Amino acid sequence: MPVTQTKYEVVIGLEVHAQLKTKTKIFCTCPVDFGAEPNINVCPVCLGMPGVLPVLNKQVVAYAIKTGLALNCKIAKHCKFDRKQYFYPDLPKNYQISQYDQPICLDGYLEVNGVKEKKIGIIRIHMEEDAGKLVHAGSDRLHGSEYSLVDFNRTGTPLIEIVSKPDLRSVEEAKDYAQTLRSILRYLDVCDGNLEEGSMRCDVNISLRPTGSNTFGTRTEIKNVNSFKSLVKALESEIERQTEILDGGRKVIQETRLFDESSGKTISMRSKEEAHDYRYFPEPDLVPLEISEKWINEIKETIPELPHAKKTRYPKEFGLSIEDTKVLIEDRNMAEFYEAVVRLGANPKKATNWLIGPVTAYLKEHKTDIINCCMTPKQLSDLLGLIEKGIINDSIAKTEIIEELLGKGTDAEEIIKQKGLAQITNVNELKEIVKEILEQNPEQLNQLKDGKEKVRGYFVGQIMKKTNGKANPTIVNQLITELSRK
Ligand code: ADP
Ligand code: MG
Ligand code: ZN
Repeated sequence: MPVTQTKYEVVIGLEVHAQLKTKTKIFCTCPVDFGAEPNINVCPVCLGMPGVLPVLNKQVVAYAIKTGLALNCKIAKHCKFDRKQYFYPDLPKNYQISQYDQPICLDGYLEVNGVKEKKIGIIRIHMEEDAGKLVHAGSDRLHGSEYSLVDFNRTGTPLIEIVSKPDLRSVEEAKDYAQTLRSILRYLDVCDGNLEEGSMRCDVNISLRPTGSNTFGTRTEIKNVNSFKSLVKALESEIERQTEILDGGRKVIQETRLFDESSGKTISMRSKEEAHDYRYFPEPDLVPLEISEKWINEIKETIPELPHAKKTRYPKEFGLSIEDTKVLIEDRNMAEFYEAVVRLGANPKKATNWLIGPVTAYLKEHKTDIINCCMTPKQLSDLLGLIEKGIINDSIAKTEIIEELLGKGTDAEEIIKQKGLAQITNVNELKEIVKEILEQNPEQLNQLKDGKEKVRGYFVGQIMKKTNGKANPTIVNQLITELSRK
């Protein structure tokens, strides 16, 4: 149940880490490959051996700029890297190379329009390297495990961190923001955006304040939110917890909390660290970056039409509802496929219904996506044309054709020939069948003659059964009317 908030206003800000889809790591030439055997994709640089030097991967900077431009940020002409010191076994250098006071992107926004249209401020985007992964034996946490192993394959994977302003005012808005952001990252092709696999990770900051107040309350930061469902659950349970504290006249402690999937609650993890705890200082092994206007403009050219623009365009251009539009544009490939089908002359609404209906169902069932299945836009457009011309009906197309089209890429026309699926549109042929069925059911026929239109469906069903669904429904209906006249 959604938590309704009246006494307190909810204030949320998200810090999103996105793993960039580069071929190699941020400061060395090790491949970024998540399926690999542990500790295979490592070298002296990402293992933090003494005497090695990092070399910045240019593609990381390009992706950060691309994301910044898509999120309406100012791109810094000058920025640098800093060392963030902390000790943990998955961090071989005992510091993380990150950006502190001069991040690459500043001061942008993202538009959400789930609940209502609103600009959510982006404070900054910075580049940094990921840490390795600990694998705990006998527990999912270090605490309570028998022993832990460390896999350094992920060490040095490029990340960008996108920090929102505390502009979000409800759980729904936070979810909308995270989903819109994921969609943009995927459109840009800079990140997989997979929360479950950790290629996109959200740290959720939340506080409450008395409704009407204009100062912020004390926040907590929730980690380990691995899905949109968990995001909602974590926020709801944290709102409940903070409400109880404030209602009891006590104070919320600023701390980092962990979302526990099994209980659906957040648990205290550590007291909030301050910036000075990290002893940030400029990274002496990397030169500061100078970013030219020319390069920024080149990157600007590579940005595709983004979901927000499509969201306003589709209803106007194709007459679609906002709900259908949202489903279609969620995935860029789906949106582009759709546009291609319509460009080939298909009816925009019919194409939408097919794509978000049977096609999406097939893709989900076969765990694939629109570019990895066999159907081309031309083939779908042809199929819709065959239905429109009355060569086959909708239901046969759904049961007999679409799977083969998607799975094997056989043209609809070919499938129709092979399986003998073409509709029966010959009036004389159908007349014989309709007559026969009417005669076989005298009782129902009398009801129909008495104007009980309900039994019409029964007759249509019988005729479809007899013709294996191939009878043209319009002609069948005309014939039933004609032959059942008193
Ligand atoms: P830090 O780097 O220490 O985590 P920041 O000041 O950079 O802290 O803020 C981190 C995130 O916390 C941002 O997304 C910001 O919007 C959010 N935030 C800051 N103050 C609050 C607050 N009072 N309530 C909710 N979120 C907040
Ligand atoms: Mg933080
Ligand atoms: Zn390496």
